[in-house]
Amino acid sequence: MDALKETIRAMALDAGFSRVRILAPFILSENASGFIKRGVLQDRWGESSPSLLVAALPYGNEDAAAGCASAEQDIEENCRAYIAPFARRNYYKEAVKRLQKLSQTFRRLFTGINAGGIHADRRSSYRIFCNSPIPEKPLALACGLGSQGRNSLVITPEAGSLVIIAAMTLPFPLESDAPESNRSVCVRCGFCVEACLTKAIRREGGIERNKCIQWYASGNEASVPRHIAEQWGRRLYGCTACQDVCPHNKKPIRGVETREGILPAYVDARKLLAMSDEEIKTFFKGTAMGLSWLKPKHIRRSARLALACAGGSQNKSI
Ligand code: SF4
Ligand code: SF4
Repeated sequence: MDALKETIRAMALDAGFSRVRILAPFILSENASGFIKRGVLQDRWGESSPSLLVAALPYGNEDAAAGCASAEQDIEENCRAYIAPFARRNYYKEAVKRLQKLSQTFRRLFTGINAGGIHADRRSSYRIFCNSPIPEKPLALACGLGSQGRNSLVITPEAGSLVIIAAMTLPFPLESDAPESNRSVCVRCGFCVEACLTKAIRREGGIERNKCIQWYASGNEASVPRHIAEQWGRRLYGCTACQDVCPHNKKPIRGVETREGILPAYVDARKLLAMSDEEIKTFFKGTAMGLSWLKPKHIRRSARLALACAGGSQNKSI
């Protein structure tokens, strides 16, 4: 089975993933009890698939919005609301597409393999999780896709934290890859703690979500407290201050190319505020901001905060 595991890993790396690990369900149930409680994995994965492929797709630190500058020149300076690089392409969709293609190859190559009634040539044997109700971070940590940084993100050796994580069930009983050693990736560093304007990162590690700009930008909570609103800046979506300073993200990291869900670096916040719900949904449809839980009211809230910060009138909670 080792040869099969390495074949699968090599094929996934060939498909553009920067790191690929294998996880067996029993490892998961020992290390991620929080997710077992939800019953999701046991019902939909744990008992029906012998192993899981967990992969990192790099979006890198090149400017994904290069080429969109002409559209941005038309936006008045104080109306510009910023979209972070990770959201300027739909890397989640791209990861799913790549895994789907991989599963088609597996189905063709592994026809005839039948592990305990799970058939390798059936589409249903390869279920894909990406930005789904199953949080990928514990899966990633359990099989050594990366280590958890002080900023709570998964840091991978190849592409730092500039990756999105996706997973796919496999119909073969493969041995789990080991987690990364306990060696901290954050030794003698605390750059992210200092860089976070809202003091959301604990020095001992971990995030206080109710202080994190990205938590609110993702549509959480009914209102944004004043001290968070004051630090909002021009962001429409995506705070990356704690990633920008991380030494693990400083080397050149090549992101995968994709045409999925292209968004510019800046959009016109004033125009967004004038749009109806339907118009906002249409504008962001198919993009990383077209998520079901990110409602037009949340996008408007971020646009108002960005405008308020640009105009210097941010002294209120929104
Ligand atoms: S995303 Fe922004 S607000 Fe949240 S922890 Fe990182 S730097 Fe702080
Ligand atoms: S900036 Fe430093 S402390 Fe923060 S996650 Fe990166 S390595 Fe760890």
